[in-house]
Amino acid sequence: MNELPLIQHLIDGQLVAGGNRLADVFNPATGKAEKRLLLADTVTVEKAIASAHAAYPAWRATPPLKRARVMSKLKVLLEENAEQICALLTAEHGKVLSDSMGELQRGIENVEYASYAPELLKGEHSKNVGPSMDSWSEFQPLGVAAGITPFNFPVMVPLWMWPMAIACGNTFVLKPSERDPSSALLVAELALQAGLPPGVLNVVNGDKEAVDALLVDKRVQAVSFVGSTAIAEYIYATGCAHGKRVQALGGAKNHAVVMPDADIDNAVNALMGAAYGSCGERCMAIPLVLAVGDATADAVVAGLKAAIAKMKVGPGTDAANDMGPLVTKQHFEKVKGYVEQGIKEGAKLVVDGRDVKVEGHKDGFFLGACLFDNVKPGMKIYQEEIFGPVLGVMRVKTLQEGMDLINAHEYGNGTCIFTRDGEAARYFSEHILVGMVGINVPLPVPVAYHSFGGWKRSLFGDLSAYGPDAVRFYSKRKTITQRWLSAGVREGAVFSFPTNR
Ligand code: NAD
Repeated sequence: MNELPLIQHLIDGQLVAGGNRLADVFNPATGKAEKRLLLADTVTVEKAIASAHAAYPAWRATPPLKRARVMSKLKVLLEENAEQICALLTAEHGKVLSDSMGELQRGIENVEYASYAPELLKGEHSKNVGPSMDSWSEFQPLGVAAGITPFNFPVMVPLWMWPMAIACGNTFVLKPSERDPSSALLVAELALQAGLPPGVLNVVNGDKEAVDALLVDKRVQAVSFVGSTAIAEYIYATGCAHGKRVQALGGAKNHAVVMPDADIDNAVNALMGAAYGSCGERCMAIPLVLAVGDATADAVVAGLKAAIAKMKVGPGTDAANDMGPLVTKQHFEKVKGYVEQGIKEGAKLVVDGRDVKVEGHKDGFFLGACLFDNVKPGMKIYQEEIFGPVLGVMRVKTLQEGMDLINAHEYGNGTCIFTRDGEAARYFSEHILVGMVGINVPLPVPVAYHSFGGWKRSLFGDLSAYGPDAVRFYSKRKTITQRWLSAGVREGAVFSFPTNR
């Protein structure tokens, strides 16, 4: 029997073994295990933390411009190696190659933004805050930071985290998703090629054991997490209990409102990409449409039905396909279970993608696009995150009724409104309790120089991911006040609180 390739850890600049448990890594398009992954034990994670801890003093002392230059070089290497990175991504995640390219490009933009760190870290200065007295605030790194990332953006989400953390002078331990770890590991190897000294960036592969080792270790100062809400809550509580700064981004259930005055054809096309792109495995996907008025709902459902009929499902490596497979067999079964649940709950299944067949890929985890009409707030398919190609249409009478539903939902990651009415759009964006809002934009994922974060149970912590918030998250503010009295000036003791009065 042929041995499957083994995926290791990257510690102190070397690919190394560590831990004696193994996990299969599947190609979701074939349904076959094609690699094996070493799951780090606590000792292995501690080695990675020790390496990051040892690398910290010299990296912190490296001039910010030199640190940033590594990011500029990495950007070029990522562009030069884009095909290889995306081939790995699609082979393990399943998404179509054009989508992998989009993901990588968004990641590169975060690297590009991290290369501006010297500008972003400049701080604030005030002269003469008191007699002969100046004051300034500066940003100092924290030390060792850790990142724990989900399967659905295996390249981009790690790049939300470590480039800025490292550009700010921290060192880093990344724990990517065990389902599709290879592309993040390749990107980290390219960062070494770009000039990161050994130990500044370490990658440990693993599961809960590795995560828990990161959460309790005293040398880890900050933890960034992106994944499902249940785990985000656990990471936030455990990390905070161990004295760490934590940001934990969780799950989502994003609603799109379609107003009666919207351009329905454009709205339908936008919804197709937002609902079924990446097989619905995006935290900014749109799994719910709130159609205002029955006429709007009828037009949206008819448009979606016609568009779904033209969609091509198959392996992500074939450029003709619009949608690849789901990530694992378990996830495939779970999503199918939600479709069955929706039928039981009384929603109307307008398009059933469960019997999709992909020639030559009978064992792949393919599920066709599913469309429900008449979804109601009490249903599980309304309340829970499905994370698959299942779109539900709900009929509401007014914009306010739709907004009340969105505002009452436990998640608040993204939302959007399709309309030609500026007043309605302005009212919506002002009063909706959601962190990222699109107006005729179905996936309002902020660009790299804005920050990304949901509200309610979509984010635990005070600072969002990437953008300006990342500079704050990965650095501590220090305010220094100095006074240089002229030679010979003598002052007596002052017992009152110093002021400028
Ligand atoms: P997940 O929560 O299962 O896993 C995320 C990470 O947590 C992985 O690295 C995993 O190894 C680790 N993990 C899993 N179980 C753990 C446990 N019991 N203890 C400690 N660590 C554990 O999420 P996933 O399935 O990989 O990703 C999909 C989820 O991520 C969806 O809910 C999606 O909405 C969410 N997501 C959110 C955002 C956002 O920005 N809000 C972005 C992408 C994905």
